[in-house]
Amino acid sequence: MAYHWVADIEGESRTITYDELHREVCRTANALIELGVKKGDRIAVYMPMIPEAIFAMLAFARLGAIHSVVFGGFSAEALSSRILDSDCRFVVTADGAFRRGAPSPLKPAVDEALKSCPDVAAVLVVKRTAGEVEWVEGRDHWWHDVVERQSDLHEPEAFPAETTMFIMYTSGTTAKPKGIYHTTAGYLTQAATTHYNVFDVKAESDVCWTAADIGWITGHTYIVYGPLINGVTQVMYEGLPDSGGRDRWWKIISEYKVTILYTAPTTIRTLMKWGDQFPEGFDLTSLRLLGTVGEPINPEAWMCYREHIGGNRCPIVDTWWQTETGAILCSPLPGITATKPGAAMRALPGISIAVVDDAGNEVGRGEGGYLVVTAPWPAMTRGIWGDPDRYLDTYWSRFPGTYFAGDGAKLDPEGDLWLLGRVDDVMNISGHRLSTTEVEHALVGHPAVAEAAVVGASDDTTGQAIVAFVTLKLSAEDANKDQAALVEELRDHVAHVISPIAKPRQIILTPALPKTRSGKIMRRLLRDVAENRSLGDVTTLTDPTVVNMIAGLMVTDAASDD
Ligand code: AMP
Repeated sequence: MAYHWVADIEGESRTITYDELHREVCRTANALIELGVKKGDRIAVYMPMIPEAIFAMLAFARLGAIHSVVFGGFSAEALSSRILDSDCRFVVTADGAFRRGAPSPLKPAVDEALKSCPDVAAVLVVKRTAGEVEWVEGRDHWWHDVVERQSDLHEPEAFPAETTMFIMYTSGTTAKPKGIYHTTAGYLTQAATTHYNVFDVKAESDVCWTAADIGWITGHTYIVYGPLINGVTQVMYEGLPDSGGRDRWWKIISEYKVTILYTAPTTIRTLMKWGDQFPEGFDLTSLRLLGTVGEPINPEAWMCYREHIGGNRCPIVDTWWQTETGAILCSPLPGITATKPGAAMRALPGISIAVVDDAGNEVGRGEGGYLVVTAPWPAMTRGIWGDPDRYLDTYWSRFPGTYFAGDGAKLDPEGDLWLLGRVDDVMNISGHRLSTTEVEHALVGHPAVAEAAVVGASDDTTGQAIVAFVTLKLSAEDANKDQAALVEELRDHVAHVISPIAKPRQIILTPALPKTRSGKIMRRLLRDVAENRSLGDVTTLTDPTVVNMIAGLMVTDAASDD
């Protein structure tokens, strides 16, 4: 068995054997050939978590075409910028998706995005909901019309090892996302070996559930490529953790006898917040290994994962890696590494890391510094699509010859690795990377906003949450608006421009932002304000009173929430 696909709506599911998967992928590949897809073409995949998304990815790989999966929660604008950046000529999507039992349309966002992407020749649409959709004759094709009538025989093409296989956009420190691209042989080798070693998989008996979306790298490497190469059985789940009730995850684990669960700390914290009564009613004894990824896991969440989900029986692998690394680089190995709650422990065999100071010298044990990778690895990204200079500048210029990951870290006295969060302007919201600049641009795009500064502030559930400080244009119309309504409008605006995951937790309207004499916004101070810390050095500010005023506004805002 390849997948047990479990729908958002309880009771709907599909099992797909490896033979069926192979035939579905061949049919899809033949359909794509009919639509004109050729080697090297870029294709955007904007899909819910349904099996067709995987059929499409694998069919593109078979044809040597390059897939760029865009998370289905992204906005039309985010989709169009990604389509344009890599000049995608085809889009695969669905009419809609299900969220907590209700249909939610997807195709309208594609139609909207394509208004600014005239070079997209064809859109292949899976019918997932019963909703009506707008149709562009000649451009749009139903999946069931084009794919289902194809032959299930297709000869895969052979390509050199360094052929680009996919692009995955991720946020950097500027407003423009980076198209990180990966090639075939190195990526696939490490996807498979890390999946095999870190999760200690046994193809004949394991049921793996990577509870992530295929719109992120975790989905690519540990729902699609790694597990399929290793021939394991997987659960693929379409819904949210509480679709159908807060016990949904535990129902799925007990029904499908999941043995390996891999998820993000933010989900563990949410499940913890809901309470032990939900997992307690279910038989979770099939579980034998737990994994976490995406952000540092706090020791409380780690212990809860171990005790309440893993029954004090399952090792936890805290896996550190990135879109750019393609596969896990640091993690304990089950049965080999003694674990510590909150530590990613060790670089995997073959991976060389160091923690260095500003000058690139290794820091002492117990001291914080920058995490670098000092030797190449097979699945490393081969670059940023269309922007080789940005690639060199972002990863290779800070410490020439070593890969700069953008994370702070320390090695403890025993040499075990602890991640300390991002050291750049990248936020980590529920394990999703977002740049402060991206959110600032979205805010400034609103007609009422003059200037915006965004910081990531620590949050009990989502790891970090977005706090925005905004100055308004002094138009008469906005001056008369109710400020609370305007804040809500701005929050919705960001969700619309980027994605609901980018919606600020808090927006503080302020008459001014703290700036240095050279005109730079002092985000460090705003982060102190947002996290309720005493303020650091304010002497370089043009007007040091501004930051105290903002701190006062923050307190008032928090009080009005209560
Ligand atoms: P992404 O490329 O979206 O997967 O995000 C990668 C970033 O997530 C890393 O640079 C880290 O900041 C963070 N991250 C991923 N895994 C871990 C982990 N196990 N512990 C701490 N941070 C992590």
